[in-house]
Parts: sequence; structure tokens; C-alpha cells
Amino acid sequence: MEKMKTIFEYCSLCKKTVAIMIPANLAMNKDFFPFAYIDVHGNPVHELILFLDANLSIRSSIICKDIGNDFTRNRNEDGFHDLVNSRNTFK
Ligand SMILES: [Zn+2]
Repeated sequence: MEKMKTIFEYCSLCKKTVAIMIPANLAMNKDFFPFAYIDVHGNPVHELILFLDANLSIRSSIICKDIGNDFTRNRNEDGFHDLVNSRNTFK
């Protein structure tokens, strides 16, 4: 079973700190830092996009809402690039 790590970040849409489970080895095999990790949570569902460094510390985060029903596709870096390219609300 994959080892997990819990990180915490304040979500200004939920107005609370959310616990986010990420694989403990998430930073392995990354070519650059910080890298993006997208957590999807809440009701209505929205994205909390985290920028993580090699120690899995959160450098920065942004919120993206109105993500529709196909949110699972964004749970990887390719999805992140799709997100950047397809959303004019993402600056
Ligand atoms: Zn939230």
C-alpha cells in the first residue's frame, strides 16, 4: 500500500483548513519545483491547486471553482496544463 502524507492548507472557499492526503513519494521523479498538485473537494466541488516543493511543503495555492463534472481528469500535471489553457478565469 502506498505511503501517504497529510498536508494542511487553508481553503478560502470552504473558509477552513482542509487536510489533503498525498502520496509520500509525490515529489520523487519531478524535474522541477515547485510542482502543482490539484486537490478536489467540497460541496459544490472545487479545486485547490497546491504548489509543492521537494519537501512537500506548500509554497502557494490557488482555488479554482466551477470545474464541472469531469474533475477527475485534472488530478495530474497534464490536467493542470489543460486547466491553464482552457480557463480564462485562470490568470
Ligand atoms: Zn475548499
